[in-house]
Amino acid sequence: MQITSILKKNKVKKALLVEPKFPIANKSRNHQDFLPIGLLKIAAWLKSLNIEVKLIRFDEDLIKETVDFNPDIIFVTSLFTYWSKYVKEAVEYCKNSFNVPIVVGGIYASLMPDHCKKYTGCDYVQKGIIPEVEKIRDVDTLSKGYDLVDVDYQILHTSRGCKRRCKACGVYCIEQVHHKKTIKKEIFKKRLIFYDNNILQNRYIKNILNELIELKKQRKISYCESQSGFDGRILLKKPFLGKLLKEAGFKNPKIAWDGPITHKNQIEKQLKILTDAGYKASEISVFVLYNFEIPYEEMEEKRVEAWKWGVQITDCRFRPLDRSYEEYCFFDNYNPQKRNGQTDKDYYIHKASGWTDSKIRLFRRNIRSHNICIRLGTKFYSAAAERKRIPFEIAKKYRMAEYETAKNHINDAWDPAVFHKA
Ligand code: SF4
Repeated sequence: MQITSILKKNKVKKALLVEPKFPIANKSRNHQDFLPIGLLKIAAWLKSLNIEVKLIRFDEDLIKETVDFNPDIIFVTSLFTYWSKYVKEAVEYCKNSFNVPIVVGGIYASLMPDHCKKYTGCDYVQKGIIPEVEKIRDVDTLSKGYDLVDVDYQILHTSRGCKRRCKACGVYCIEQVHHKKTIKKEIFKKRLIFYDNNILQNRYIKNILNELIELKKQRKISYCESQSGFDGRILLKKPFLGKLLKEAGFKNPKIAWDGPITHKNQIEKQLKILTDAGYKASEISVFVLYNFEIPYEEMEEKRVEAWKWGVQITDCRFRPLDRSYEEYCFFDNYNPQKRNGQTDKDYYIHKASGWTDSKIRLFRRNIRSHNICIRLGTKFYSAAAERKRIPFEIAKKYRMAEYETAKNHINDAWDPAVFHKA
């Protein structure tokens, strides 16, 4: 049943929007990567229909804040499949507290609608976006959703879906491909975060970047950021986009490098388009997926290439999201603090490509040390120096030294320029 029909059928005057208690640190709730943008858009739409809205972002608040608020409908959002238990808990709490229809939407709901309905016990599952919500384009309506949160940035989409079908990605199951011609009438904040899956694939990207450039010149926006990596194959076909991205104020650009080491020449050319456009190598990242089909050894080779180019690495550990990995797609208890390691009973390890718990931890450590060196402009990394466990004079004296010199004075000096065997 369509959401509009559900609203009419239930004569909805008040709606409760619930973000389950996902394992996100409280201080990160308003971080640009975690804002429940789907709920904010629904809130804006409902308000435009004169429906009173309340947004709840913590379980504790669910109890406290709803004492005097009796909703006629509840919308619960979902994220990754391996966080589905938090969605179930939220739905159960709502069911016990209110006798009203509960709709679950979001990523998990869209990827596994049947499972979501059965497992959470909700009344309706919203698969994909709500067309009526997606149609809202005016600032007055859109900004009403942001009245519910305290953030100084705005999340935007210039496109939906993605024309590609990368193996580890479920975007094509959730969103139909759609490209907007213009976004300037949607902008009401100065900092813009783009949630497009593949922003450069928008066939009107040149027009959109020119709109942003104009707004930047008028000081109506200060900067832009793309949450996903840029599709470098498109950059190669349209290198002029590099300059437009820079002029539009896109900061910290990321180039996706999901493929093998043999693609390194292509990636180098893509990075050059960005450096020619005026980006410093150290502010660029290559976006890599590990614990998937490329083994540790090849991923480490890719890291060394990134070091030669002087760029950072944004890493993403592969976690199954659908039933093709049924056994694993409902939990992820990876804990980076576990010194004695964990097993595949705790989280998904892509054993078929030779990944092990220790290789996963080693690769993550290498990436972190690599990025610290790039950011600080140093030629070695030392955990002891970072934790101030060596005399200040020694740390200061050798801070900018070459690795070959530093290793004689700092025991744990780590060389980012070489391959580290597992
Ligand atoms: S390019 Fe990105 S969004 Fe598109 S299918 Fe591949 S991983 Fe997914």
